[in-house]
Amino acid sequence: MPFVITDPCIGTKDAACVDVCPVDCIHPRKDEPEFATATILYIHPEECIDCGACVPACPVAAIYDSAESTPASQKALVEANAVYRAGEPDAVARAEAIVKSHIETHPDLIAVPPAERAAAHA
Ligand code: SF4
Repeated sequence: MPFVITDPCIGTKDAACVDVCPVDCIHPRKDEPEFATATILYIHPEECIDCGACVPACPVAAIYDSAESTPASQKALVEANAVYRAGEPDAVARAEAIVKSHIETHPDLIAVPPAERAAAHA
């Protein structure tokens, strides 16, 4: 089961996870055109090898080790990670639409600073 990036990444996009991922499955990278406009980073579910290296690298605890362990308030973002594909405009748009819907439906959570947002997940 692949790892999942959740909403503390919104407003963060630190990309330390990208630097430590051994299979380059976290996108967009800073050198990809989508990086500037992407709301969060995404883990490709079929390329992730479940090594766990990204979890301690993330400064805002945004990464969970499976869809099952992802908090209830973040479940929609499992699908966002699943559909994002770097360089594919339709897939990028679908993933971003899911994230933007999540933002609109969780204003209380998004109002919490990213570094504290993981603790606020329920
Ligand atoms: Fe990359 Fe490993 Fe994190 Fe999967 S668990 S996204 S392979 S660093």
